[in-house]
Amino acid sequence: MIAAVLNLLLNWNLAAADLEKSGKGTERSIPEPGELLRAPLFHTPRNPFLHDRAMECHWDGGLLIRDGRVAACGDFETLRTANPSAMTTDLRGGFLLPGLIDTHIHFPQLRVLGCLGRSLLDWLEECALPEEARMADESYARQIARGFVHALASHGTTTALVFGAHFAPATAALFEAGRASGLRIVSGLVMSDRKLRPELHQTPEAAYRDSSDLIRCFHQRGRLLYAVTPRFALSTSEAMLEVCQTLRQEHDGLRFQTHLNENVREIAEVAGFFPWASDYLAVYERFALGGRGAVMAHDVHPTASEIERLAAGGTAVAHCPCSNAALGSGLFALKRHVKAGVRVALGTDVGGGTGFGMLKEALHAYLLQRVAPEGALVDAAQMLYLATRAGAEALGLENEIGDFEAGKAADIVYIRPPVDTPLAAVLERVESPEQALAAIFTLAGAESIQEVRVEGSVVQK
Ligand SMILES: [Zn+2]
Repeated sequence: MIAAVLNLLLNWNLAAADLEKSGKGTERSIPEPGELLRAPLFHTPRNPFLHDRAMECHWDGGLLIRDGRVAACGDFETLRTANPSAMTTDLRGGFLLPGLIDTHIHFPQLRVLGCLGRSLLDWLEECALPEEARMADESYARQIARGFVHALASHGTTTALVFGAHFAPATAALFEAGRASGLRIVSGLVMSDRKLRPELHQTPEAAYRDSSDLIRCFHQRGRLLYAVTPRFALSTSEAMLEVCQTLRQEHDGLRFQTHLNENVREIAEVAGFFPWASDYLAVYERFALGGRGAVMAHDVHPTASEIERLAAGGTAVAHCPCSNAALGSGLFALKRHVKAGVRVALGTDVGGGTGFGMLKEALHAYLLQRVAPEGALVDAAQMLYLATRAGAEALGLENEIGDFEAGKAADIVYIRPPVDTPLAAVLERVESPEQALAAIFTLAGAESIQEVRVEGSVVQK
């Protein structure tokens, strides 16, 4: 590998010298705008669960950015020759990945991280909901929102599907913090009218009114999108689910998010509230709350029929392995979902999960599958796909983000471990690109995220 890299470097130097001699390298009469990033790069323009060699890697890679879009992605030398006027930024020593995409995370739960030792319903009652009630204080919510978007960016997440707050001003604070950060934020008011704490309940009428106002203010504004967000069937009456349906009918392009089949006690209680429903998913289906652009978190305990219906409808599942382990929810049936054709992406589920790192989340998808009965053996390409393009597909944004195909937004994470870290040591002697990528997923935390760009502009450095 090292010899190959040296060869590539030598070839590049020769090519550069040739260009210099012929005068092409210094020619300025036909300026070619753009910036050419040089570093090893990885992306998954295809789904590696379905296709062999779905991952593309360029070890001496080039990523040409023009006007915030990917103009070309390939070998540096080739791109350099074709675009002699582009400004080269030499990033060797680090690695370029597409921006990470988190498809399930709760903004009001930032300060709940680390509340271990409970299962879902007790955890909600004792850890999450008291903190979520504090979001009634708008200035507190603004403070949390700023910290939240900073944490996303500092972990390399460029797009997130986020549960807002139960309060409209706090949800607006998240959108505003998202706008200021430059990240892509998809979020919405969390809707509930029972089973939580009285201060977290709205009437369906108030939820309709507040949601409509937020949609008008934030949906499709810059990089923001609105997602209709009933917390889960347990905390939403049929009237509230009807409001969700109405909102989706009234506005184009809304996304949808909720929870599904996370915990056995939750599932039993949902069955008690909706005796007419054949299973949990049927509750949402009754109100047409699924399909493309809909993301259901967890699905740890699905029936065979639910998996089939998720696949047929194009509804995505946000797999949250850290949360599933921390709350003892169970082991996700990744193979069954993928085999049936369900879109599966990843979510950190802060604060039920263990932090903001999508690289770590992908590692835990790998780890839990190693110990799951009939678990899948998740490879590095699949981890990358789950953390990037799968999220774009789940959100219906695969034509805009998720990989480095020409024309897409230049959403980029530059990973470069600090010297004297275990990751830096491992990367010194990797023998294949796949090994390097697996090491990044195993060892890279926020300290290794050197720079994050959205549409070519730096949002975190
Ligand atoms: Zn959640």
